[in-house]
Amino acid sequence: MRDTRCFASVRLLTALAAFSLLSGLFIPDAAYAWERGLNAGSWTKGMTLKVLVDEIPADAPAGTSAALDEAIKEWNDAQQPFGGLQLMRADATKENADIHIGWGKALPAWGSTHEKDSTDKNDNGFGKDTVRMTIEINDGLNARGITRVLKHELGHAEGLGHSAKSELMKEDAYSSTPGSAPSANDLNDAGAFTEPTADDKAGKKALWGTAEKLSKSVALSPAPTFADGLWLYQYTLVAEEGTGLSDPVTEFTIDLPGSFTADAFFDIFAELQGPQGWGYDFYQGALSGGGKELDGEPPSPFLLSFTAQSVADGIVPGQFGEFVLLSPLGPGMTRAFTNSPGFDSDEFMVHAPVPEPSALLLLVAGLAFAGVVLRRRIHWD
Ligand SMILES: [Zn+2]
Repeated sequence: MRDTRCFASVRLLTALAAFSLLSGLFIPDAAYAWERGLNAGSWTKGMTLKVLVDEIPADAPAGTSAALDEAIKEWNDAQQPFGGLQLMRADATKENADIHIGWGKALPAWGSTHEKDSTDKNDNGFGKDTVRMTIEINDGLNARGITRVLKHELGHAEGLGHSAKSELMKEDAYSSTPGSAPSANDLNDAGAFTEPTADDKAGKKALWGTAEKLSKSVALSPAPTFADGLWLYQYTLVAEEGTGLSDPVTEFTIDLPGSFTADAFFDIFAELQGPQGWGYDFYQGALSGGGKELDGEPPSPFLLSFTAQSVADGIVPGQFGEFVLLSPLGPGMTRAFTNSPGFDSDEFMVHAPVPEPSALLLLVAGLAFAGVVLRRRIHWD
């Protein structure tokens, strides 16, 4: 689920649905919000990962082996411009395997990918710790469906988590019912395959790229202050100067960990501000249930992503941008990161509103008199 807004009062925009539609038309979908998955710490830059595949069952759909090769090639092609992590099926053995793909029938999920561990070493005579992956081989899937599951799960094996902004790595990837897991028909669909997106490439470069960075940034954030029932969060995003640093910073994304509904999303903020020419997006990637699970990876976090509406609006080396949030919810430390058009990424820990369930109850009660509190606006320009 996604909602795009330009900078203005959240309350005002909630009332002006037509404006939100317009702003959605003008903001290019160029922001990246890749997420760290279970295997974000499993590899090192420049590695070639050997992929050992269990014997494909005789009753598997024709084309299953080719599906594997296609999925592997796609991720290798995506990584190519940055150097670094590559997958290799040839010459993989129990002794050298990094990733172990097995097949299953009537599984609870279409696929599953585990964090790298010693299970194969202890139980199956493997030489190293492995990432174990299990892929559904029937339950109505044809080779196209299996290809789609493999493409998604190999992303997890390489370290990407569910990204609400990646068509390939979002938790409801391929689903004809947004917010719900895909059906066999969805996965078998004869339409075009989803390839690794700009979002996925940003994550892969940040995790495993070996190409020189073209941007470097840091987010400075003083401790939030509390007044009149609202917390004030401020961030100064600095694009650093240096040899070879030429890319502007065009995205600043904050994870908003917690459990709350999309409807409550706008109630978290009384005000959002950023530099001239920037807008913001909300993303909510959690599944609402229905159908067989895609896999066992944690759901996407809620994301607040500030995005320059064009590269020209980005923060160039030597400049900085100011971002402000005003929220009735108290602070917690959470991950934030930047990206640039060249897929460079830097990560920070920042204070952000944390929607604890108890806080939400207070919030609902608080909204009864919010008319007074939320009319208090801050202006920095
Ligand atoms: Zn997944």
